Amino acid sequence: MKLIKAALVTGASRGIGAQIAINLAEKGYAIGINYSKQEEKAFNVAKKIESLGGQAILLQGDVANKNDVNQIVNKLVDKWGNINVLVNNAGISRDVRLVNMTEEEWDSVIGTNLKGTFLCSQIVGQIMSKQQAGSIINIASIVGITGRIGQANYAASKAEIIALTKGFAVELAPDKVRVNVIVPAFIGSDMTKNLSPEALENVLRTIPMGRMGSSEDLAKMVCFLADQDMEYVSGQVFHVDCRIVQS
Ligand code: NAP
Repeated sequence: MKLIKAALVTGASRGIGAQIAINLAEKGYAIGINYSKQEEKAFNVAKKIESLGGQAILLQGDVANKNDVNQIVNKLVDKWGNINVLVNNAGISRDVRLVNMTEEEWDSVIGTNLKGTFLCSQIVGQIMSKQQAGSIINIASIVGITGRIGQANYAASKAEIIALTKGFAVELAPDKVRVNVIVPAFIGSDMTKNLSPEALENVLRTIPMGRMGSSEDLAKMVCFLADQDMEYVSGQVFHVDCRIVQS
């Protein structure tokens, strides 16, 4: 079987994940586009990659479901023979104050964000360990460090992703598998499009550069960390937020 440089991007049908998939494809990776429900959007990302001369396959599945993750990873490895990069990007938010939060709102966010990152990292990590090579890149959030009203579930999931990154990086370092985490703040996407003008103004006030980050800003950092030349960079936390100033 011909071995091709391959990357799996979870939650790549839209937003940040779609841009990460496109940028990695431009760097020569064949891309596994994971998504949950929005097949048409995932299909459009694959078409875009193909129009750039790249290769992509659609990998539907819930990252919080072990059977789904096994099937996603097996399909990718069957097609391309190996897996060089995993980007744990799939994530959701269900915002409500903690005192009113239902168990379902807690479980769904922790399930997709944290358990999803755990399952994908574990299953892909086993393959990368055998390969003695690979880069796992997790996407956390500034909310996992600062907390935010109405986002206790989301904050907890993202804080744990930072902790999981450090633990897994130590375990996989002897196998030459690197694990790093990117901490974005405010990135223009479906997740942030409903911010009120007032909330947006408050956000922009905390960013000296005066603009929200873009998916492209994050995708560039992912490509940097994916690069095999970065072999001595693991277990690190990378803030891509142009320095949020805390009052
Ligand atoms: P988004 O636009 O809402 O896209 C979410 C993606 O995740 C979609 O592709 C969605 O698939 C997929 N997804 C959701 N649940 C899934 C599941 N159970 N299994 C597999 N895929 C699933 O989100 P985004 O704003 O691009 O955010 C991407 C990541 O960056 C998230 O981890 C988020 O927490 C983090 N982040 C975002 C911001 C921001 O300002 N936007 C800031 C900090 C961190 P479908 O399209 O099929 O639903």
